[in-house]
Amino acid sequence: MLYLILFGAPGSGKGTQSDLLVEKYKLTHLSTGDLLRKEIASGSELGKTINEYISNGNLIPDEMMISMLSAHIDNTPATAGFILDGFPRTVAQAEALQNMLEQREGAQTQLVDLEVDKDELISRLLKRGETSGRSDDNLETIQKRLEVYETKTKPVNDYYKAKGLHACIDGMGTIDEIFQRIVKALEGKI
Ligand code: AMP
Repeated sequence: MLYLILFGAPGSGKGTQSDLLVEKYKLTHLSTGDLLRKEIASGSELGKTINEYISNGNLIPDEMMISMLSAHIDNTPATAGFILDGFPRTVAQAEALQNMLEQREGAQTQLVDLEVDKDELISRLLKRGETSGRSDDNLETIQKRLEVYETKTKPVNDYYKAKGLHACIDGMGTIDEIFQRIVKALEGKI
């Protein structure tokens, strides 16, 4: 079973490309951002805590995120594999995922890193903010999220590079051009 990690900065197109990959490969899309936003929408106490982190552009603590993700994977009906969109976002999360998958027979991991220029990321996120209604798609929070990406999330690349499970994709261009690049990188791996 494949665990495809769709990786990249906020605004790099992970969600958009996930939709296309789900259609082509019949994988289950698992977006931690979506899971968290659902919890917020439920109005729970946990949701209120999560909202504080997200609105400030900070990451949810690793332990909370890891237990939410593993519970969700366990509760998903049989599937050909998963697209992990927005997870792992720290090296500690990557290590926890690796430990979890080592206990699952036949689990394979592949990371696809969407590389996009910073100016393009900001302009995509500001554009999305006009319609998304997301509390974190405003300039101040976007800048904080990009800073958090650089310091906490980007090092996850090296973790997978060291394992030979990393593919770098040029994330600039049209949605279809980028999709074709991902499909090419996945040839023989899926
Ligand atoms: P996203 O929808 O992937 O852009 O995620 C939106 C926000 O949810 C992020 O800015 C974080 O605050 C939080 N979040 C999503 N995934 C994670 C994760 N794996 N670890 C910690 N926080 C996360």
